[in-house]
Order: sequence, then C-alpha cells, then structure tokens
Amino acid sequence: MTQTRGALLRSYVSGNWHTPPGEGRPLHDAVTGDEVARISSEGIDFGAALTYGRTVGGPALRELTFHQRAALLKALGGHLREHRDELYAVSAQTGAILGDSKFDVDGGIGVLLAYASLAKRELPNDTVYVDGAVTPLGRAGTFLGQHVCSPLHGVAVQVNAFNFPVWGPLEKLAPAFLAGVPSLIKPASPTAFLTARLVELIVGSGLLPEGSLQFVAGGLGDTFDHLTGQDLVSFTGSAATAQTLRAHPAIVRNAVRFSAEADSLNFSALGPDATPGTEEFDLFVKGLTTEMTVKAGQKCTAIRRAFVPEQHVDAVVEAASARLAKVTVGDPATAGMGALASLEQREEVRRSVKALTDAGRIVFGDPDSVEVTGADADRGAFVSPLLLVGDPERAEPHEVEAFGPVSTILPYTSTAQLIDYAARGQGSLAGSVVTGDTAFAREVVLGVAPWHGRILVLNAKDAKESTGHGSPMPQLVHGGPGRAGGGEEMGGIRGVLHHMQRTAIQGDPDTLSAITGRWVTGSERHETDVHPFRKHLEELRPGDTLVAGPRVVTQEDVEHFAEFTGDTFYAHMDAEAAAANPLFGERVAHGYLIVSFAAGLFVDPAPGPVLANFGVDDLRFLTPVKFGDELTVTLTCKQLTPRESAGYGEVRWDADVTRQDGESVARYDVLTLVAKKESAQ
Ligand code: NDP
Repeated sequence: MTQTRGALLRSYVSGNWHTPPGEGRPLHDAVTGDEVARISSEGIDFGAALTYGRTVGGPALRELTFHQRAALLKALGGHLREHRDELYAVSAQTGAILGDSKFDVDGGIGVLLAYASLAKRELPNDTVYVDGAVTPLGRAGTFLGQHVCSPLHGVAVQVNAFNFPVWGPLEKLAPAFLAGVPSLIKPASPTAFLTARLVELIVGSGLLPEGSLQFVAGGLGDTFDHLTGQDLVSFTGSAATAQTLRAHPAIVRNAVRFSAEADSLNFSALGPDATPGTEEFDLFVKGLTTEMTVKAGQKCTAIRRAFVPEQHVDAVVEAASARLAKVTVGDPATAGMGALASLEQREEVRRSVKALTDAGRIVFGDPDSVEVTGADADRGAFVSPLLLVGDPERAEPHEVEAFGPVSTILPYTSTAQLIDYAARGQGSLAGSVVTGDTAFAREVVLGVAPWHGRILVLNAKDAKESTGHGSPMPQLVHGGPGRAGGGEEMGGIRGVLHHMQRTAIQGDPDTLSAITGRWVTGSERHETDVHPFRKHLEELRPGDTLVAGPRVVTQEDVEHFAEFTGDTFYAHMDAEAAAANPLFGERVAHGYLIVSFAAGLFVDPAPGPVLANFGVDDLRFLTPVKFGDELTVTLTCKQLTPRESAGYGEVRWDADVTRQDGESVARYDVLTLVAKKESAQ
C-alpha cells in the first residue's frame, strides 16, 4: 500500500500565510492511520508576530465599538455555518462521528453567535466599558469615583487542546475579539489540520480586521520570551504543560495574565431519592453513558467519577452496561462512537486505565480489545467504552484522568461522604447532581461548589431543556479551581472583561462625564429651546435636560388613582391605619402615581423621533409625597446607544422627581428608543 503524504500546514502570521521550510512532522487520520498533513512552525518570527498583533490588530479592533465587533462575530458565525459540511468532513479524520463534529463545529459557531448577541444586549455601542455605578467620594458631590475597563494593548495567545479543534479556538477568540484584543491561535498538533481549515475559512472571509487573528501550526518557538504585561495566555491541555507554561520567566516577571483549563476529574452524583425505576435514575445512567461516548470521552467536562448510593451500584452497573453494549465503535460515518484522536492518545488512556484498575475493577469493556465496525481496528485509535467500579477511599479514582471513554462508579453512604469524595478531585470543571430532592441538591451544591466551576442539577423538571452535564455554555463560567487550572473562560461578559484592564477613575462630575461619554449626577446639564423628545438620536447629547412642573398632588388625585387602578392600599386610603405606619404617619401618594405624573410632565405628546418607552431601571421612592406637595421632574439625557443596522437607538434618561423643598421623592432611569435622523430621510 502506498502511503500518501499530507500537505504542510500553513500558519497565518504578520499578515501572510507562512509555509515552513523542511518537511515537518506527519499528522495522522485517527481512523485510517493515513498521513493527512504535516506540521511545523519553522521559520516563523514569533516576536514579529506578537508585534504585528499589537501594532496592527489591536488598533484596528480598538477603533470599533463593542457592537461593531459583535456584528463582525455574527457575520463570521454565518460564514462558517455555510461551510459546516466541509468542516465535518475534515473533523471525521480526527476520529469524530457526525454528532461529535456537530458538538465541536456547531458548538463553536454557537459561541460566536451567543457572544455577538450578549454584546449587543449587555455592552454599550462604545469603545469604553463603564463598570458599576458612580461612587461619591466627597460630601458635596464634586469628587466621584468610577471604574472603566479598557482593552489590553497586547495579544491573547491561545493554546488549545486536541479534543476541540474548532470549538476551542472560537471559544477563546470570541471574548478576546469583543474586548478589542487580537488573538494568536495555537492548536494542539494532532488535530491542527482541522483548525488550519477553520482559520483558512476565517481569513478567506475577509471579515475580521487584519491582525486581529493569527495562527501558528506547530510549536510556539520563543513566543513566551516576548510576552509583556499587556499580553494574555489562555491555555487548555494537561496540568503538566499548564504548570510549565505558568512558570515561564516572562509570565512570572511581567505578571502576564495566565488562564488555564487543565485536567478535571468531574463527578456526577445519583441522589438517594433517585431509586431504580424513577425518571432521575434513568437520566443519571443516560448522562453517564452519553458523557463516556460523546467525542469518545475526550471531553474536559466528561464524567470521570460517578457517585452512586451504595445500595444502587449493581443497578447502575447493569443499566449502564446495557446502554454501552448498544454503542458500536468504528467508522465515524456509521458507528455510535469514533476513534480517539491518535494512537498515542490510546496508549495514554490504556496507561491511565491500568492505574485505575489498581483501585477498582472493570465491569464493562476491555482496554485491549474492541469490536470495530467499518474500519481497520489495527490502524485506527479505537478503544471500547470502559466502566469501572472503584474504591472511593483510594486516591486513584480522584486523581487519574483517563482521557477517553472511561468512567468509574464510586459508592457512597451519606451526603457528607459524597461531598468529601467530590472535593477529593481537588478542583473540577463540572459536576452534576441528579435528584428531585431540593434539600439534598442544596446541601450537595453548596458543599461542593468551592471545588467546582459549574454544577448541573438534573431532574424530571429540567431534563427536557437541559443542555447536559458536559456542555460548557457561553453565558456561564467554564473553568475550575485547583487541578482544573484555576482559570475562568466565557461566563458571558465576564469572559470579555478578562481581556480588559479595570481602572478606577477619580475626578469631578464633568470630567467623568467627558471620559465615559455618559452624563453623571453633578455634571453639567443644558436646557435647550427644543424639547429633548423632538430630537433625533444624532441631535441628542448627554446632559440635554428638560425641567417640567410643578404639579400639585391632591387627595382627589390619590383617590381617583386608587379607584381607577384598584390599588387601595391602606397607606393611601386609610387615614387611621396610615397614621399608625411609622414611616408615613399620614396618607401618602402612590409611588406609581408619582411616576405617572412625572411622565405626564415630561412627555412631548406629538408624534416625533421617540418611538417607545421600553422600561425603567433602578426605580426608588425616596421620600413620601403628601397631599398638597408639588412635584417637579428633571429629565436628563444620560447615555446614547445607537443600534448597528437599525433606524434607532436606545436613550437612557435620568429622571429626578423633586418636592417643593428640592428633596428627591423618586429617582430612576427611563429607557426609550429614539429614531435616527438618517432613518427619517
Ligand atoms: P498538552 O498539555 O501536551 O498540550 C496542550 C496544548 O499545549 C497543545 O496545543 C500543545 O501543543 C501545547 N503545548 C505543549 N507543550 C507546550 C510548550 N512547551 N509550549 C507551548 N505550548 C505547548 O496536552 P495534550 O493535548 O497532549 O493532552 C494530554 C492530556 O491532557 C490528555 O490526555 C488529557 O488528560 C489532558 N487534557 C485535558 C483537557 C482539559 O480540558 N481538561 C483537554 C485536553 C487534554 P502541541 O500539541 O503542538 O504539543
């Protein structure tokens, strides 16, 4: 048989495709053993690549607002979606069945889209992120504090694991890109040919600003020597490599942000209430066997330790074995489980299983033999699902991560013991508790939370919608303490902020307003002849103000409002009861009446650019309003958020309703949608 020679993978650095000199190292199809590609990063000037990212990619990204970056991520997701079939085909060469490929490819695209949509909802259409509320630092209100986050001016060096060649890089790229930080992607060599195709598609799309994404196929050379305090490293892989990289002199010297996601002995626990025959029992067994076989168990979040009440161990072994017996292993096109990523990885799994059998026994599967369908068992990296029953008092089940279709059932006899065992993993990415008993769930979740990044409570109520034990969600934190690396990825906007520097700014209100682009209490207001509701989005400025009133609140108003709405609460309607109320001492106006009167004072009723009022934020009633009090409202434009590719934007207004003595009686933000002038032309 003639052995075909794979093409040399190209890197994309400093604005060019780089083809290495020399022959490179061969990479093999996990199923057929054929050479699919060759890899080498020889000849790359890594220092220059980092400089290129910092000087070309960074500035280009920082020119864009969060929403503009989000729009590019969304477009990129759409582009990759059109090429999914091609990526699935390459993915099959990593040993993945179609379901695994979808997990990786569609999951990665899903992260791009989820981040794009999160950014539009939770980030401003601006280049500066304001973190938290303004903090008064002086009595007179002339000295304030405010935190802002700005993108680091370095490069996010992203070192990925072999098991998710598409999802891994995209999950790291999305938050870095949104933050305004360029990425340098380094995939794990065994499956780098799939990431290389992904990057070709991304670069070929022309969607991302030049320099915002670079790609190294092969080793990282002296990259780490060039890292500065403005760069970041996000690593996924083994704890041993994490330890080496974290201790690199440049990382230590320059306090480079280093985030690691490494080994993890994740657990799933069956609750004592979930006896055989219950829906929860079936959910537990299904979750366990699914986690064993999806991606052939090569998932950082897969269940390695299955805690089962002692009396149900035999029932779980029987039910899980019955399910595993139905899983065919072989050709990814037809089998239920594909191959491991490489023959080396299979050897690694066998070594780990050997260590686990020192503290347990195999109850399903044989590490050295598996029936393979539709493929050559001698050439592909196939292994059987392997279920063990172990001794939870031994160290091995809590410490040895067999990175394949391998799980160990561990009996427990009490909740306290379960919590103790779960913690012996010394830090994990994910845990799950399968129970319908909320008190048990609370005790276990709060007991094990310090050792876990994410915990799923699964039962009949949420099973249908549940995304499962092993799926990290872009909205939620992915990462775990201790052995799991101590890092945090994704987690919604938290993942974006990891790439930014939070800075406390102290100053006077006008200066803070100028820096953040938002009006803050105490900064200059400007009243204009034109009612602010008659101004289009482009014409409004933070600080534009309308003062309206006064309006007297009468007893008739309050009684009319009470009857009209049905809100006849005693504080408004019953003089005697109101007098006994220690906060009021007499009848007072409804808070909602005050807000309604305020609206009546500040609106401009004629059709105009204000399209809708979509809510209020932070509404507080500060001082009771008594009959005869006079209300004045001061409405100030606080923040403008134009929406990309829409004919309008959001305007946040500060509403301050005051009494005749100047005291604030109600304070809140009014949220409106205001048309752009361009859309009216
Ligand atoms: P490694 O830690 O060896 O590799 C992970 C990544 O680090 C790869 O991209 C690798 O590149 C890179 N790398 C390795 N050494 C260096 C270095 N000195 N400088 C810069 N980059 C480096 O893990 P593996 O992929 O080989 O997997 C080994 C084991 O790790 C698995 O069997 C499993 O137990 C665990 N693992 C855990 C994961 C998790 O998320 N919990 C995910 C994947 C693996 P290259 O491939 O080119 O060497």
